Amino acid sequence: MLLDVRDLHIEFRTRDGVARAVNGVDYGVEEGRTLAVLGESGSGKSVTAQAVMGILDSPPGRITRGEIRFQGRDLLTLSEKERRAVRGPGMAMIFQDALSALNPVLSVGEQLGEMFTVHRGMRRKEARTRAVELMERVGIPGAEERVRQYPHQFSGGMRQRIMIAMALSLEPSLIIADEPTTALDVTVQAQVMELLAELQRELGMGMVLITHDLGVVADVADRIAVMYAGRIVETAPVHDIYRAPAHPYTRGLLESIPRLDQKGRELYAIKGLPPNPAAVPPGCAFHPRCPLARAVCRTDEPPLYEVTAGRGSACHFWRETLALAREPSGERP
Ligand code: SF4
Ligand code: MG
Repeated sequence: MLLDVRDLHIEFRTRDGVARAVNGVDYGVEEGRTLAVLGESGSGKSVTAQAVMGILDSPPGRITRGEIRFQGRDLLTLSEKERRAVRGPGMAMIFQDALSALNPVLSVGEQLGEMFTVHRGMRRKEARTRAVELMERVGIPGAEERVRQYPHQFSGGMRQRIMIAMALSLEPSLIIADEPTTALDVTVQAQVMELLAELQRELGMGMVLITHDLGVVADVADRIAVMYAGRIVETAPVHDIYRAPAHPYTRGLLESIPRLDQKGRELYAIKGLPPNPAAVPPGCAFHPRCPLARAVCRTDEPPLYEVTAGRGSACHFWRETLALAREPSGERP
């Protein structure tokens, strides 16, 4: 296992009290594979990724329990210096908003080149050549000229390509992409996602793809972990989830994907909002929004039940949920 997160707990101090932002998360990524982590904002998916990358704001955030194993070593037991040495060349992150992730006062060539001068000890001229090559590789036309331009002179899609180039420059073994296409137009989204998936395959990197959009992961991910209120509520190989979700929340996410063949159909939307992390409902945290909820759901927190080998659902009624998926959408037995 390239990345192995075990029983991770992260707390935040907020005005409303202690928020359990991440509450016992387990997930893993194999070499060269992609795990999509899905959930609404506030589900803990970004916070988990920030902990893996070592960029969690602490305070207010604090890891209270768990392990983050990367290439076999638990990052949480290493000194800051050792951690940097492991993470530095080993993992890189792609953020949603390239404009704030890139330095506005340095040309993109200088920023890309810095990766090679600082981390690879190259001379500036050689680093510049590599920067141009990278820009070409991520599909930026006229790289030879545009290498002198500043981030604000690029379109959103091109900036996102530059950030991908930065992240991949040192050929890390793990990429964490946090909503990498969310800020882009729909058509550009698809192109950027395709590029990312293509480079990931080429370089054989593992990837954690964080998204709230189940529509983008089908062609890219091997596995999916669905998060809700700081926990993983369903985890499975991607095709199992599309065929038949075993958790009502996943089912809701799936049914909210717009489909071309169902134009005009009122989109199923999950009612209500995710809970305040400082006031997560007792029992199953999803119960106030769940169409299948009954008494036991309000009192007993479901464990992650094993549905099949390698597949889990934190729903007391996962069997029923699976069976529902075999009925035509919207109808109940
Ligand atoms: Fe819904 Fe109950 Fe399953 Fe939670 S445990 S998802 S409330 S049916
Ligand atoms: Mg986020």
